[in-house]
Amino acid sequence: MGRLQIARAVLGAERTWAARSSQLGLNRCCSAVTKASEGSSTSVQESPSASASEHAGGNAAEMNVRSRTWDEHRLTADQLQFRSLASDFAENELLPFAAQWDEQKHFPVDVLRKAAKLGFGGIFCGHDVGGSQLSRADGAVIFEALAYADVSTTAYLTIHNMCASLIERFGTDEQRQALLPELTSMELLASYCLTEPNSGSDAASLQSTARRSEGSTDYILNGEKAFISGGGVSDVYLIMARTGEPGPKGISCFYVEKDSKGLSFGRQEDKLGWRSQPTSSVILEDVRVPERNLIGKEGQGFNIAMSALDGGRINIATCSVGGAQFCVDAAQGYVSSRKQFGKAIIDFQNTQFKLADMLTSVQASRFMVSNAATALDSKSPWASASAAMAKRFATDECYLVANDALQLHGGYGYLKDYAVERYVRDLRVHTILEGTNEIMRVVMARHMMKSQT
Ligand SMILES: Cc1cc2nc3c(=O)[nH]c(=O)nc-3n(C[C@H](O)[C@H](O)[C@H](O)COP(=O)(O)OP(=O)(O)OC[C@H]3O[C@@H](n4cnc5c(N)ncnc54)[C@H](O)[C@@H]3O)c2cc1C
Repeated sequence: MGRLQIARAVLGAERTWAARSSQLGLNRCCSAVTKASEGSSTSVQESPSASASEHAGGNAAEMNVRSRTWDEHRLTADQLQFRSLASDFAENELLPFAAQWDEQKHFPVDVLRKAAKLGFGGIFCGHDVGGSQLSRADGAVIFEALAYADVSTTAYLTIHNMCASLIERFGTDEQRQALLPELTSMELLASYCLTEPNSGSDAASLQSTARRSEGSTDYILNGEKAFISGGGVSDVYLIMARTGEPGPKGISCFYVEKDSKGLSFGRQEDKLGWRSQPTSSVILEDVRVPERNLIGKEGQGFNIAMSALDGGRINIATCSVGGAQFCVDAAQGYVSSRKQFGKAIIDFQNTQFKLADMLTSVQASRFMVSNAATALDSKSPWASASAAMAKRFATDECYLVANDALQLHGGYGYLKDYAVERYVRDLRVHTILEGTNEIMRVVMARHMMKSQT
Protein backbone atom coordinates (compact mmCIF):
# COMPACT_ATOMS: atom_id res chain seq x y z
CA MET A 1 0.00 0.00 0.00
CA GLY A 2 1.35 3.43 -0.91
CA ARG A 3 1.79 6.11 1.68
CA LEU A 4 -1.07 8.22 0.41
CA GLN A 5 -3.37 5.24 0.63
CA ILE A 6 -2.22 4.63 4.17
CA ALA A 7 -2.96 8.22 5.07
CA ARG A 8 -6.38 7.92 3.49
CA ALA A 9 -6.97 4.62 5.25
CA VAL A 10 -6.04 6.05 8.60
CA LEU A 11 -8.09 9.15 7.91
CA GLY A 12 -10.98 6.79 7.28
CA ALA A 13 -10.27 5.00 10.53
CA GLU A 14 -10.19 8.34 12.29
CA ARG A 15 -13.58 9.27 10.90
CA THR A 16 -15.06 5.94 11.96
CA TRP A 17 -13.59 6.38 15.40
CA ALA A 18 -14.82 9.97 15.64
CA ALA A 19 -18.33 8.94 14.62
CA ARG A 20 -18.33 6.19 17.22
CA SER A 21 -17.02 8.53 19.87
CA SER A 22 -19.73 11.06 19.19
CA GLN A 23 -22.37 8.33 19.37
CA LEU A 24 -20.99 7.55 22.78
CA GLY A 25 -21.29 11.18 23.72
CA LEU A 26 -17.53 11.55 23.68
CA ASN A 27 -17.38 9.30 26.68
CA ARG A 28 -13.63 8.86 26.54
CA CYS A 29 -13.34 5.17 25.88
CA CYS A 30 -11.26 2.33 27.27
CA SER A 31 -11.29 0.87 30.70
CA ALA A 32 -8.25 0.72 32.92
CA VAL A 33 -5.53 -0.34 30.58
CA THR A 34 -2.34 -0.79 32.44
CA LYS A 35 -1.76 -1.40 36.08
CA ALA A 36 0.41 1.13 37.78
CA SER A 37 3.54 -0.40 39.16
CA GLU A 38 3.57 -0.95 42.88
CA GLY A 39 4.12 2.31 44.70
CA SER A 40 3.80 4.28 41.49
CA SER A 41 2.48 7.77 41.91
CA THR A 42 1.81 8.07 38.21
CA SER A 43 -1.77 7.32 37.30
CA VAL A 44 -2.19 5.22 34.18
CA GLN A 45 -5.85 4.31 34.38
CA GLU A 46 -8.57 5.46 32.06
CA SER A 47 -8.10 9.05 31.02
CA PRO A 48 -10.42 11.44 32.84
CA SER A 49 -13.71 12.26 31.16
CA ALA A 50 -13.74 15.92 32.10
CA SER A 51 -14.76 18.41 29.49
CA ALA A 52 -12.06 20.14 27.57
CA SER A 53 -12.83 23.62 28.78
CA GLU A 54 -12.64 22.55 32.42
CA HIS A 55 -9.09 21.37 32.12
CA ALA A 56 -7.50 23.24 29.31
CA GLY A 57 -5.12 25.01 31.63
CA GLY A 58 -5.27 27.90 29.23
CA ASN A 59 -7.68 30.59 28.19
CA ALA A 60 -10.27 30.17 25.48
CA ALA A 61 -8.00 31.74 22.87
CA GLU A 62 -5.32 29.14 23.58
CA MET A 63 -7.85 26.35 23.16
CA ASN A 64 -8.46 27.54 19.63
CA VAL A 65 -4.81 27.78 18.77
CA ARG A 66 -3.97 25.64 15.79
CA SER A 67 -0.56 25.46 14.30
CA ARG A 68 -0.02 27.84 11.42
CA THR A 69 2.30 26.23 8.98
CA TRP A 70 5.27 27.99 7.60
CA ASP A 71 6.72 25.17 5.57
CA GLU A 72 3.91 23.83 3.40
CA HIS A 73 5.90 24.49 0.24
CA ARG A 74 8.49 21.89 1.18
CA LEU A 75 6.16 19.08 2.32
CA THR A 76 4.97 16.33 0.04
CA ALA A 77 1.27 15.75 -0.51
CA ASP A 78 1.53 12.68 1.73
CA GLN A 79 3.22 14.65 4.49
CA LEU A 80 0.50 17.29 4.37
CA GLN A 81 -2.05 14.53 4.91
CA PHE A 82 -0.06 13.04 7.78
CA ARG A 83 0.17 16.44 9.38
CA SER A 84 -3.53 17.07 8.98
CA LEU A 85 -4.31 13.71 10.57
CA ALA A 86 -1.90 14.29 13.47
CA SER A 87 -3.12 17.87 14.01
CA ASP A 88 -6.74 16.72 14.20
CA PHE A 89 -5.80 14.05 16.71
CA ALA A 90 -3.72 16.53 18.71
CA GLU A 91 -6.48 19.10 18.78
CA ASN A 92 -9.16 16.66 19.90
CA GLU A 93 -7.29 14.13 22.00
CA LEU A 94 -4.25 15.89 23.48
CA LEU A 95 -4.64 19.66 23.73
CA PRO A 96 -7.80 19.70 25.86
CA PHE A 97 -6.35 17.31 28.44
CA ALA A 98 -2.63 17.97 28.51
CA ALA A 99 -2.77 20.38 31.46
CA GLN A 100 -4.75 17.95 33.56
CA TRP A 101 -2.42 15.05 32.76
CA ASP A 102 0.51 17.25 33.74
CA GLU A 103 -1.15 18.33 36.98
CA GLN A 104 -2.22 14.81 37.97
CA LYS A 105 0.82 12.99 36.57
CA HIS A 106 -1.56 10.93 34.51
CA PHE A 107 -0.06 8.71 31.79
CA PRO A 108 -2.78 8.51 29.11
CA VAL A 109 -2.19 5.00 27.84
CA ASP A 110 -5.67 4.77 26.39
CA VAL A 111 -5.04 7.87 24.27
CA LEU A 112 -1.67 6.52 23.15
CA ARG A 113 -3.50 3.40 21.95
CA LYS A 114 -5.87 5.59 19.98
CA ALA A 115 -2.83 7.25 18.41
CA ALA A 116 -1.54 3.78 17.55
CA LYS A 117 -4.80 3.06 15.72
CA LEU A 118 -3.85 5.89 13.38
CA GLY A 119 -0.47 4.30 12.73
CA PHE A 120 1.56 6.40 15.19
CA GLY A 121 2.73 3.47 17.36
CA GLY A 122 5.09 2.00 14.79
CA ILE A 123 5.82 4.81 12.38
CA PHE A 124 9.14 3.36 11.20
CA CYS A 125 8.17 -0.35 11.28
CA GLY A 126 7.13 -2.54 8.36
CA HIS A 127 3.55 -3.15 7.29
CA ASP A 128 3.93 -6.87 8.02
CA VAL A 129 4.12 -6.12 11.78
CA GLY A 130 1.43 -3.44 11.80
CA GLY A 131 3.79 -0.50 11.27
CA SER A 132 3.31 2.52 9.00
CA GLN A 133 6.69 2.10 7.25
CA LEU A 134 7.28 5.82 6.92
CA SER A 135 10.49 7.80 6.62
CA ARG A 136 12.18 9.86 9.34
CA ALA A 137 11.11 12.99 7.49
CA ASP A 138 7.48 11.82 7.62
CA GLY A 139 7.83 10.98 11.32
CA ALA A 140 9.14 14.47 12.05
CA VAL A 141 6.04 16.02 10.51
CA ILE A 142 3.77 13.80 12.62
CA PHE A 143 5.62 14.29 15.92
CA GLU A 144 5.78 18.05 15.47
CA ALA A 145 2.01 18.23 15.01
CA LEU A 146 1.37 16.08 18.09
CA ALA A 147 3.90 17.89 20.29
CA TYR A 148 2.23 21.17 19.39
CA ALA A 149 -0.57 20.03 21.68
CA ASP A 150 1.28 17.98 24.30
CA VAL A 151 5.06 17.77 24.39
CA SER A 152 5.31 15.30 27.24
CA THR A 153 2.94 12.62 25.95
CA THR A 154 4.33 12.93 22.44
CA ALA A 155 7.88 12.60 23.76
CA TYR A 156 7.00 9.24 25.31
CA LEU A 157 5.43 8.21 22.00
CA THR A 158 8.73 9.03 20.29
CA ILE A 159 10.67 6.86 22.75
CA HIS A 160 8.27 3.98 22.18
CA ASN A 161 8.77 4.44 18.42
CA MET A 162 12.53 4.50 18.91
CA CYS A 163 12.35 1.13 20.68
CA ALA A 164 10.08 -0.37 18.03
CA SER A 165 12.36 0.92 15.30
CA LEU A 166 15.41 -0.57 17.06
CA ILE A 167 13.75 -4.01 17.01
CA GLU A 168 12.66 -3.47 13.41
CA ARG A 169 16.22 -2.73 12.32
CA PHE A 170 18.31 -5.01 14.49
CA GLY A 171 15.95 -7.81 15.55
CA THR A 172 15.68 -11.18 13.85
CA ASP A 173 12.52 -11.90 11.96
CA GLU A 174 11.46 -14.09 14.88
CA GLN A 175 11.96 -11.19 17.30
CA ARG A 176 10.14 -8.79 15.00
CA GLN A 177 7.16 -11.10 14.73
CA ALA A 178 7.16 -11.84 18.46
CA LEU A 179 7.29 -8.22 19.63
CA LEU A 180 6.34 -5.70 16.99
CA PRO A 181 2.66 -6.44 16.30
CA GLU A 182 1.80 -5.65 19.92
CA LEU A 183 4.25 -2.75 20.09
CA THR A 184 2.97 -1.05 16.95
CA SER A 185 -0.61 -1.30 18.28
CA MET A 186 0.72 -0.13 21.66
CA GLU A 187 -0.97 -3.03 23.41
CA LEU A 188 2.55 -3.31 24.77
CA LEU A 189 4.69 -0.29 25.61
CA ALA A 190 8.47 -0.16 25.41
CA SER A 191 11.31 1.56 27.25
CA TYR A 192 14.92 2.23 26.28
CA CYS A 193 17.39 1.52 29.08
CA LEU A 194 20.91 2.85 28.64
CA THR A 195 21.56 5.33 31.49
CA GLU A 196 22.77 4.09 34.88
CA PRO A 197 23.30 5.89 38.17
CA ASN A 198 27.06 6.10 37.52
CA SER A 199 27.05 6.26 33.74
CA GLY A 200 25.10 9.02 32.03
CA SER A 201 27.02 10.97 29.39
CA ASP A 202 29.76 8.34 29.48
CA ALA A 203 27.32 5.62 28.46
CA ALA A 204 30.04 3.21 27.32
CA SER A 205 31.17 2.86 30.94
CA LEU A 206 27.91 1.17 31.97
CA GLN A 207 28.22 -1.54 34.60
CA SER A 208 25.07 -3.67 34.29
CA THR A 209 26.07 -7.18 33.36
CA ALA A 210 24.66 -10.06 31.35
CA ARG A 211 26.54 -13.29 32.07
CA ARG A 212 25.92 -16.69 30.53
CA SER A 213 24.27 -19.00 33.01
CA GLU A 214 26.46 -21.99 33.76
CA GLY A 215 25.48 -25.03 31.69
CA SER A 216 22.84 -23.11 29.73
CA THR A 217 22.54 -20.64 26.89
CA ASP A 218 20.49 -18.28 29.08
CA TYR A 219 21.82 -14.92 30.27
CA ILE A 220 21.60 -13.63 33.84
CA LEU A 221 21.22 -9.83 34.03
CA ASN A 222 22.20 -7.67 37.02
CA GLY A 223 22.43 -3.92 37.52
CA GLU A 224 20.41 -0.75 37.67
CA LYS A 225 19.17 1.60 34.98
CA ALA A 226 18.32 5.20 35.91
CA PHE A 227 15.79 7.74 34.57
CA ILE A 228 13.92 5.25 32.41
CA SER A 229 10.98 6.81 30.58
CA GLY A 230 8.00 4.51 30.93
CA GLY A 231 9.76 2.71 33.80
CA GLY A 232 7.35 0.62 35.87
CA VAL A 233 4.59 0.86 33.28
CA SER A 234 6.17 -0.29 30.01
CA ASP A 235 5.94 -3.97 29.17
CA VAL A 236 9.20 -4.41 27.25
CA TYR A 237 12.59 -3.04 28.38
CA LEU A 238 15.50 -2.78 25.95
CA ILE A 239 18.49 -3.18 28.24
CA MET A 240 22.11 -2.43 27.37
CA ALA A 241 24.32 -4.66 29.52
CA ARG A 242 27.94 -5.71 29.57
CA THR A 243 28.70 -9.16 28.21
CA GLY A 244 32.41 -8.62 27.65
CA GLU A 245 35.37 -6.28 27.91
CA PRO A 246 35.20 -2.74 29.40
CA GLY A 247 34.18 -0.01 26.94
CA PRO A 248 31.70 0.07 24.06
CA LYS A 249 32.66 -3.26 22.47
CA GLY A 250 31.68 -5.25 25.55
CA ILE A 251 28.03 -4.14 25.53
CA SER A 252 25.03 -6.12 24.24
CA CYS A 253 21.34 -5.34 23.86
CA PHE A 254 18.57 -7.51 25.36
CA TYR A 255 14.83 -7.27 25.68
CA VAL A 256 13.36 -8.07 29.06
CA GLU A 257 9.67 -8.49 29.75
CA LYS A 258 8.05 -6.66 32.65
CA ASP A 259 6.93 -9.78 34.48
CA SER A 260 10.43 -11.32 34.47
CA LYS A 261 11.51 -12.63 37.87
CA GLY A 262 14.07 -10.30 39.43
CA LEU A 263 12.96 -7.17 37.52
CA SER A 264 11.73 -4.33 39.72
CA PHE A 265 11.35 -0.57 39.62
CA GLY A 266 12.36 2.36 41.78
CA ARG A 267 10.00 5.10 42.90
CA GLN A 268 8.41 7.29 40.27
CA GLU A 269 10.55 10.40 39.88
CA ASP A 270 8.88 13.72 40.66
CA LYS A 271 9.87 15.86 37.68
CA LEU A 272 9.79 19.52 36.64
CA GLY A 273 8.24 18.60 33.30
CA TRP A 274 7.34 15.49 31.28
CA ARG A 275 4.82 14.81 34.02
CA SER A 276 2.29 12.96 31.87
CA GLN A 277 4.74 10.07 31.55
CA PRO A 278 6.41 7.97 34.23
CA THR A 279 10.16 7.88 34.88
CA SER A 280 11.82 5.42 37.24
CA SER A 281 14.89 3.33 37.76
CA VAL A 282 14.82 -0.25 36.49
CA ILE A 283 16.51 -2.79 38.74
CA LEU A 284 17.81 -6.12 37.52
CA GLU A 285 18.55 -8.80 40.12
CA ASP A 286 19.50 -12.13 38.59
CA VAL A 287 17.01 -11.70 35.78
CA ARG A 288 17.22 -14.80 33.59
CA VAL A 289 16.50 -14.34 29.88
CA PRO A 290 16.82 -16.88 27.08
CA GLU A 291 19.40 -16.38 24.34
CA ARG A 292 16.62 -15.43 21.93
CA ASN A 293 16.23 -12.14 23.88
CA LEU A 294 19.64 -10.94 22.65
CA ILE A 295 19.12 -8.29 19.94
CA GLY A 296 21.91 -8.26 17.37
CA LYS A 297 25.13 -10.05 18.26
CA GLU A 298 27.09 -9.99 21.50
CA GLY A 299 29.18 -6.82 21.56
CA GLN A 300 26.93 -4.89 19.14
CA GLY A 301 24.76 -3.34 21.84
CA PHE A 302 26.49 0.02 22.05
CA ASN A 303 26.35 0.58 18.30
CA ILE A 304 22.69 -0.44 18.31
CA ALA A 305 21.94 1.94 21.19
CA MET A 306 23.75 4.86 19.50
CA SER A 307 22.16 4.16 16.15
CA ALA A 308 18.70 4.21 17.77
CA LEU A 309 19.57 7.53 19.40
CA ASP A 310 20.25 9.16 16.03
CA GLY A 311 16.54 8.81 15.29
CA GLY A 312 15.60 9.52 18.91
CA ARG A 313 17.45 12.84 18.86
CA ILE A 314 15.64 13.91 15.72
CA ASN A 315 12.33 12.97 17.35
CA ILE A 316 13.05 14.90 20.53
CA ALA A 317 14.19 17.93 18.53
CA THR A 318 10.94 17.69 16.58
CA CYS A 319 8.96 17.74 19.83
CA SER A 320 10.82 20.94 20.73
CA VAL A 321 9.82 22.49 17.40
CA GLY A 322 6.15 21.58 17.88
CA GLY A 323 6.10 22.89 21.44
CA ALA A 324 7.87 26.13 20.51
CA GLN A 325 5.50 26.74 17.59
CA PHE A 326 2.60 26.48 20.04
CA CYS A 327 4.33 29.05 22.26
CA VAL A 328 4.80 31.50 19.37
CA ASP A 329 1.14 31.17 18.39
CA ALA A 330 -0.07 31.46 21.98
CA ALA A 331 2.13 34.50 22.65
CA GLN A 332 0.98 36.22 19.49
CA GLY A 333 -2.63 35.59 20.49
CA TYR A 334 -2.05 36.92 23.97
CA VAL A 335 -0.24 40.14 23.04
CA SER A 336 -2.87 40.84 20.38
CA SER A 337 -5.60 41.05 22.99
CA ARG A 338 -3.72 42.34 26.04
CA LYS A 339 -3.62 46.15 26.21
CA GLN A 340 -1.18 48.36 28.09
CA PHE A 341 -0.44 52.06 27.64
CA GLY A 342 -3.70 52.36 25.72
CA LYS A 343 -2.93 49.89 22.96
CA ALA A 344 -2.45 46.20 22.28
CA ILE A 345 1.00 45.03 23.33
CA ILE A 346 1.54 43.65 19.82
CA ASP A 347 1.41 47.21 18.51
CA PHE A 348 4.78 47.93 20.14
CA GLN A 349 7.46 47.30 17.56
CA ASN A 350 9.63 45.64 20.18
CA THR A 351 6.94 42.98 20.59
CA GLN A 352 6.66 42.46 16.85
CA PHE A 353 10.44 42.09 16.55
CA LYS A 354 10.48 39.63 19.44
CA LEU A 355 7.78 37.51 17.79
CA ALA A 356 9.60 37.68 14.47
CA ASP A 357 12.80 36.44 16.11
CA MET A 358 10.95 33.66 17.92
CA LEU A 359 9.35 32.42 14.73
CA THR A 360 12.70 32.60 12.93
CA SER A 361 14.25 30.39 15.62
CA VAL A 362 11.44 27.85 15.30
CA GLN A 363 11.67 27.80 11.54
CA ALA A 364 15.47 27.44 11.59
CA SER A 365 15.09 24.57 14.08
CA ARG A 366 12.48 22.93 11.88
CA PHE A 367 14.81 23.05 8.88
CA MET A 368 17.71 21.63 10.89
CA VAL A 369 15.53 18.76 12.05
CA SER A 370 14.19 18.17 8.57
CA ASN A 371 17.72 18.13 7.18
CA ALA A 372 18.83 15.61 9.83
CA ALA A 373 15.81 13.40 9.13
CA THR A 374 16.61 13.40 5.42
CA ALA A 375 20.26 12.63 6.17
CA LEU A 376 19.18 9.62 8.22
CA ASP A 377 16.70 8.48 5.56
CA SER A 378 19.41 8.63 2.91
CA LYS A 379 22.00 6.93 5.17
CA SER A 380 24.35 9.88 4.79
CA PRO A 381 27.74 9.52 6.52
CA TRP A 382 26.79 12.83 8.18
CA ALA A 383 23.56 11.44 9.63
CA SER A 384 24.77 11.07 13.24
CA ALA A 385 26.44 14.47 13.25
CA SER A 386 23.40 16.07 11.60
CA ALA A 387 21.11 14.53 14.23
CA ALA A 388 23.37 15.79 17.03
CA MET A 389 23.57 19.24 15.44
CA ALA A 390 19.79 19.47 15.00
CA LYS A 391 19.13 18.21 18.52
CA ARG A 392 21.57 20.70 20.05
CA PHE A 393 20.29 23.65 18.04
CA ALA A 394 16.55 22.96 18.10
CA THR A 395 16.27 22.03 21.77
CA ASP A 396 18.31 25.07 22.89
CA GLU A 397 16.55 27.54 20.59
CA CYS A 398 13.06 26.22 21.16
CA TYR A 399 13.47 26.32 24.93
CA LEU A 400 14.45 30.00 24.64
CA VAL A 401 11.40 30.62 22.44
CA ALA A 402 9.12 29.06 25.06
CA ASN A 403 10.75 31.21 27.73
CA ASP A 404 10.26 34.34 25.59
CA ALA A 405 6.61 33.38 25.12
CA LEU A 406 6.22 33.21 28.88
CA GLN A 407 7.84 36.66 29.17
CA LEU A 408 5.37 38.09 26.66
CA HIS A 409 2.54 36.84 28.88
CA GLY A 410 3.93 38.91 31.76
CA GLY A 411 2.88 37.69 35.21
CA TYR A 412 0.07 35.63 33.71
CA GLY A 413 2.63 33.49 31.91
CA TYR A 414 3.87 32.33 35.27
CA LEU A 415 0.44 31.02 36.21
CA LYS A 416 -0.91 27.60 35.37
CA ASP A 417 -3.96 29.34 33.90
CA TYR A 418 -1.92 29.67 30.72
CA ALA A 419 -0.28 26.77 28.95
CA VAL A 420 3.09 28.38 28.20
CA GLU A 421 4.54 27.60 31.63
CA ARG A 422 3.97 23.88 30.97
CA TYR A 423 5.72 24.13 27.61
CA VAL A 424 8.69 25.82 29.29
CA ARG A 425 8.88 22.98 31.83
CA ASP A 426 8.41 20.25 29.22
CA LEU A 427 10.97 21.63 26.78
CA ARG A 428 13.63 22.15 29.42
CA VAL A 429 14.61 18.49 29.64
CA HIS A 430 15.22 18.16 25.90
CA THR A 431 18.62 19.80 26.29
CA ILE A 432 19.56 17.08 28.78
CA LEU A 433 18.24 13.71 27.65
CA GLU A 434 19.09 11.47 24.71
CA GLY A 435 22.58 12.88 25.20
CA THR A 436 23.08 16.32 26.75
CA ASN A 437 23.72 19.22 24.44
CA GLU A 438 27.33 19.25 25.59
CA ILE A 439 27.61 15.64 24.38
CA MET A 440 25.97 16.69 21.08
CA ARG A 441 28.92 19.03 20.64
CA VAL A 442 31.30 16.17 21.42
CA VAL A 443 29.62 14.06 18.69
CA MET A 444 29.81 16.89 16.15
CA ALA A 445 33.40 17.77 16.98
CA ARG A 446 34.45 14.12 16.59
CA HIS A 447 32.83 13.97 13.15
CA MET A 448 34.47 17.23 12.14
CA MET A 449 37.90 16.04 13.20
CA LYS A 450 37.43 12.60 11.65
CA SER A 451 36.40 14.05 8.32
CA GLN A 452 39.52 16.23 8.30
CA THR A 453 41.91 13.28 8.47
C1 LIG B 1 13.12 12.99 32.34
C2 LIG B 1 14.25 12.13 31.87
C3 LIG B 1 13.98 11.01 31.09
C4 LIG B 1 15.04 10.18 30.68
N1 LIG B 1 14.75 9.05 29.96
C5 LIG B 1 15.74 8.15 29.70
C6 LIG B 1 15.44 6.89 29.09
O1 LIG B 1 14.28 6.60 28.77
N2 LIG B 1 16.44 6.02 28.89
C7 LIG B 1 17.74 6.31 29.25
O2 LIG B 1 18.60 5.47 29.03
N3 LIG B 1 18.06 7.51 29.81
C8 LIG B 1 17.08 8.43 30.06
N4 LIG B 1 17.39 9.63 30.66
C9 LIG B 1 18.76 9.89 31.06
C10 LIG B 1 19.46 10.98 30.26
O3 LIG B 1 19.75 10.48 28.99
C11 LIG B 1 20.71 11.39 31.07
O4 LIG B 1 20.24 12.14 32.17
C12 LIG B 1 21.70 12.19 30.24
O5 LIG B 1 22.30 11.40 29.26
C13 LIG B 1 22.80 12.83 31.11
O6 LIG B 1 23.36 11.91 31.99
P1 LIG B 1 23.52 12.31 33.55
O7 LIG B 1 22.18 12.77 34.01
O8 LIG B 1 24.14 11.18 34.25
O9 LIG B 1 24.47 13.57 33.55
P2 LIG B 1 26.08 13.57 33.56
O10 LIG B 1 26.60 12.68 32.50
O11 LIG B 1 26.55 13.32 34.95
O12 LIG B 1 26.39 15.07 33.15
C14 LIG B 1 26.31 16.18 34.06
C15 LIG B 1 26.75 17.43 33.30
O13 LIG B 1 28.11 17.27 32.87
C16 LIG B 1 28.19 17.48 31.47
N5 LIG B 1 29.23 16.63 30.88
C17 LIG B 1 29.41 15.31 31.05
N6 LIG B 1 30.43 14.87 30.32
C18 LIG B 1 30.92 15.93 29.66
C19 LIG B 1 31.98 16.12 28.71
N7 LIG B 1 32.72 15.13 28.25
N8 LIG B 1 32.18 17.39 28.22
C20 LIG B 1 31.43 18.42 28.65
N9 LIG B 1 30.41 18.28 29.52
C21 LIG B 1 30.14 17.06 30.01
C22 LIG B 1 26.81 17.10 30.95
O14 LIG B 1 26.57 17.66 29.67
C23 LIG B 1 25.93 17.67 32.04
O15 LIG B 1 25.74 19.03 31.84
C24 LIG B 1 16.37 10.50 31.03
C25 LIG B 1 16.62 11.66 31.78
C26 LIG B 1 15.60 12.46 32.20
C27 LIG B 1 15.90 13.68 33.01
